[in-house]
Amino acid sequence: MRYRVERDGVRLKVSLGSAVVLGLREARMDVRPTTLYAMLGERCHGACRFCAQARDSDADPRFLSRVVWPQFDLDAVLARLPESNDLRRICIQTVLAPGSESNLVAVAEAFHAVSKLPISVCMNPTDPAWLPRLRAAGVDRVGVGLDCATEETFSRIKPGFHWEAYHTFLDAIVDTFGTGSVHLIVGLGDSDEDVIRKIQDAHDRRCTVALFAFTPVRGAKLDLPAPEVGRYRALQLARYLIISGRARLHDMVFIEGRLAEIRLDPVAIERALDTGLPFRTSGCPDCNRPLYNERPGGVMYNYAAPLTEDERGLARQELLSYIGIQAGIR
Ligand code: SF4
Repeated sequence: MRYRVERDGVRLKVSLGSAVVLGLREARMDVRPTTLYAMLGERCHGACRFCAQARDSDADPRFLSRVVWPQFDLDAVLARLPESNDLRRICIQTVLAPGSESNLVAVAEAFHAVSKLPISVCMNPTDPAWLPRLRAAGVDRVGVGLDCATEETFSRIKPGFHWEAYHTFLDAIVDTFGTGSVHLIVGLGDSDEDVIRKIQDAHDRRCTVALFAFTPVRGAKLDLPAPEVGRYRALQLARYLIISGRARLHDMVFIEGRLAEIRLDPVAIERALDTGLPFRTSGCPDCNRPLYNERPGGVMYNYAAPLTEDERGLARQELLSYIGIQAGIR
């Protein structure tokens, strides 16, 4: 069954960086997105405490995290897509709203009809019967914004959503696509041990993990600081070592929930640090999300491009400030 989207008047939000790559907006960018980020739907019916799109948020709804999402006609986006050589992937995010699944399938079909780029979808748990329809529409990966590493934090930060439903849906995603993506946000109240345990769990479920740094948004309900960068670096390193199969949870030592040691050959850790890869944006292949959590000139939680030598040195210093010697890093 094919889903038809009534093209006239259909509007799609795309991230400002994506709009620039498509030639729909002009702005100076140090790093261009390698994924086209689109958002489908208006105000979300959910109430995640950190989110500018939440139904009860007083934040500017043009934002998601630090990113502005201008709206365009779907046809305008589709018309520019085949000429946008920088792009390696399309990511469609959805908000929680009635009927969003059929719109999502229809928009994925419309993208797939004009471009053979792989398509990721980030969505809320729903009837798993939608998953084969998404795959038939050209989608190759589906991810969920679990955001929290423990059920306790999840119930506090994502009221109205259900921890178990996310995991059941994740299993259905892996059954359909062979893999999945889990978004986790550092800084919502979970300990290092909680986050790393969840990364291991996601990896064992054949999912990759996209790490985000909590970004305070004016008007959103959650009033917390952004995470300490040294801590974020340690969690990025742990994620990289686990997802690449170099380490497991049992190689990590925690003291009262804080990562205190990585019991791994220091040479293996040094090799990983020398690549700079642990500190790159994580998630689906070719997803680089420039300035999603970062201010230009501010803390670069996730590097959207290969790190320069200076950036690798800085990231190492930041990591050392948190875990250093115990991890065998000099
Ligand atoms: S990791 Fe990137 S491409 Fe994948 S679903 Fe998340 S934002 Fe989209």
